[in-house]
Amino acid sequence: MARYISLYSGSSGNCSVVEENGKFIIIDMGKSARITNSALTRLGLELKNLQGILVSHEHSDHISGLKVFLKNLHVPLFSGAPTNDYLRDNALVPGHIDVQDLNFTGTNIGPFNIQGFETPHDSACCLGFKIRTDGGSSMSIATDLGFVNEEILKNLSGVDLTVIESNYDVNMLKYGPYPYYLKSRISSNRGHLSNIQSSRATLRLVEDGVKKIQLCHLSNTNNTPRLALERIKNSAAENGIYLPDDVTVKVNRRHEVTQPTEF
Ligand SMILES: [Zn+2]
Ligand SMILES: [Zn+2]
Repeated sequence: MARYISLYSGSSGNCSVVEENGKFIIIDMGKSARITNSALTRLGLELKNLQGILVSHEHSDHISGLKVFLKNLHVPLFSGAPTNDYLRDNALVPGHIDVQDLNFTGTNIGPFNIQGFETPHDSACCLGFKIRTDGGSSMSIATDLGFVNEEILKNLSGVDLTVIESNYDVNMLKYGPYPYYLKSRISSNRGHLSNIQSSRATLRLVEDGVKKIQLCHLSNTNNTPRLALERIKNSAAENGIYLPDDVTVKVNRRHEVTQPTEF
């Protein structure tokens, strides 16, 4: 059994871990090294077992802890080539770190095989990841994306667990306090996924046989876990889709470690 663990999730910072038999990888690190390290210690994850770091894109809520965290470590970091260029050009990772372009056909990192796929977002490049473990478990994750197309759905499906963004409730964003330019950015095709967009994708994934869904990167201002979960139930009812009892949908917590998910 592998485990997916969200350490923290949202525009204030994102970080999660995929672990199997003690060995683990980290996906993104948007809060300080101190906060991240203390969460890892509480989970019993030792840095000597860290196999590598995946970075989805260069926005600060995904990378701001990396430089300090990696200061005394020798682990490889993987992302898309434009993201890696940005990290190098802006000295956002220490010079000794082996920064590698993720191979889209599959890169082996310890017991994990990682396939990156592109997602639409207003960054140099943004990647989702499909992860297969030596033990035969599989998951996919897509955070920070403006829309979901068939190609992305294909990458998110056929796995034991899918983690997908459910950033905002359409009405909370529309009538909320954000300035117009920010509302436009968030709801654009290179912004974030609304609960409606995320629920549609989720239902397609469930129809394809995914049993475990986890919602990530919820907005603090424009969403609540209850609204995101209700949207899925309502979308299913509206479209006559039956949600089987063995399907679980969980929401990542903002500032705390979310109960680990076995997959
Ligand atoms: Zn983000
Ligand atoms: Zn972003």
